[in-house]
Amino acid sequence: MIATRNQGRKLTRSARAHWANVELTAYIGLGSNLGPREETLRQALQDLAGRSGVSVTQVSCFTETEPVGGPPQGPFINAAAELRTTLTPRELLGVLQQIEDQFGRERDVRWGPRTLDLDLLLHGDQVVSDPDLQVPHPLLHKRLFVLEPLCQIAPDVVHPVLHKTVKQLLADLAG
Ligand code: AMP
Repeated sequence: MIATRNQGRKLTRSARAHWANVELTAYIGLGSNLGPREETLRQALQDLAGRSGVSVTQVSCFTETEPVGGPPQGPFINAAAELRTTLTPRELLGVLQQIEDQFGRERDVRWGPRTLDLDLLLHGDQVVSDPDLQVPHPLLHKRLFVLEPLCQIAPDVVHPVLHKTVKQLLADLAG
């Protein structure tokens, strides 16, 4: 009998998709408020699109937003993007963090200014609640600067925990 790496373990849908090399749809949020903000977001998307197991299928408009929380700092450019990916949420987070690091992202001040912030918002209907990774992103439904661009590209996608569409979450928050 051939032993497999998953013998005896129950696989999540996302993990099954990974093993079967099936693509899932994921959504990320992008933000920058230091340096050439729009150029940084464009280059980050280009870098992401060149990674194995990831394609970028939709990108929202780039919008200037006022910072929320943290120390006084300049306005952000925010956007959201849709990906098709065979990576697991954790693998995708690793790729996002590598790209953040390439743009000189420093992680010293919480909610401080940043050259590039990449957040994994949704990954299929996967739910992850680890200390260093929560999917759906825990602030997804609390931030207009996340929901507004996301709603441009994924209005009818359903949040797998709150069971509401992105359009409904935006109406709840904006209303
Ligand atoms: P931030 O300051 O928003 O870039 O937060 C980065 C930290 O949030 C990292 O230590 C990540 O491990 C953690 N984190 C938890 N869940 C997520 C997620 N869904 N997307 C991005 N970062 C996450």
